[in-house]
Amino acid sequence: QAKSQGKNRYVVHTSELLDAMLDDYMLEVDLRRALEKNEFVLHYQPQINNETGQLIGFEALIRWQHPTLGQIPPDKFIKLAEENGMITQIGEWVIDEACTQNKKWQDAGMTPVKVSVNLSTQQFLTRNLITYMEEVLERTGINPAYVVVEITEYMAMEYEYSIHVLEQLKALGIGISIDDFGTGYSSLNYLKNFPIDYIKIDKSFVSEIMNNEQDAVIIKAIISLAHNLHKEVIAEGVETKEQLEFLKTHQCDISQGYFFSKPLPVDEIERIYLDQ
Ligand code: C2E
Ligand code: MG
Ligand code: MG
Ligand code: MG
Repeated sequence: QAKSQGKNRYVVHTSELLDAMLDDYMLEVDLRRALEKNEFVLHYQPQINNETGQLIGFEALIRWQHPTLGQIPPDKFIKLAEENGMITQIGEWVIDEACTQNKKWQDAGMTPVKVSVNLSTQQFLTRNLITYMEEVLERTGINPAYVVVEITEYMAMEYEYSIHVLEQLKALGIGISIDDFGTGYSSLNYLKNFPIDYIKIDKSFVSEIMNNEQDAVIIKAIISLAHNLHKEVIAEGVETKEQLEFLKTHQCDISQGYFFSKPLPVDEIERIYLDQ
């Protein structure tokens, strides 16, 4: 009895594993064709100046409109794209699309704001990132002062190379932001030596502001550290008025989160901001 149950369980397990492998495989096959089939879109999430309440930028966040599975969030396919090497091409599409869109908005008369794009580790370490950036800036005609790249602390681990890349991006006039700050490998050394403009406090700290005294202390410390190093602080994942009040009280510069808006498709951004 026990033996046959064990065997059954084993069979069930195998087929579940096979299903999962098959799902991954099909997703990967689809992913390889998603770019040429135009299935990616960018949504844009507003970033607000805490002091003035004004819109200062948008973070561009990728979504995959799968023909049968519907909208797939980045957490479900970025890792896959990193594994099969597609991330560089997808990442280049993101840079191109975000810059093109922002220039379009400016040309249509929207008050100029920044657009931030997330770079993957592989993309950051790719030799032609700088060349590609340069090419997009030139082709789209966007002022680089309105372009920001978000990197993570993991990328900073390739210390010498990272400084080299960041300095070249800086020389192009592009802004640099450290994303998800506090969740990875945080070194005071790179904060001091890297040409970073913004530090984004991870939403895991922000969500606990009101319940966890330690998270509140950490946020206050990050803000003061950042300001002493002449960097601006962006809080991500701001969901409530109380969190925003806390951040304002402690001089956090910029907020982003559902309290203001979730990431929105282009037509909704235009409906809200184009005629202001
Ligand atoms: P991230 O760069 O840290 O982006 C913030 C994530 O938090 C986004 O999830 C956003 O929708 C979500 N978010 C914003 N406000 C709130 C809030 O108030 N509450 C909560 N709970 N969540 C909020 P999303 O769009 O699913 O993206 C997840 C991650 O995928 C991003 O984290 C980023 O690491 C990655 N990603 C997104 N777009 C791209 C891309 O174009 N290229 C690369 N390489 N990675 C991307
Ligand atoms: Mg980001
Ligand atoms: Mg983030
Ligand atoms: Mg994050």
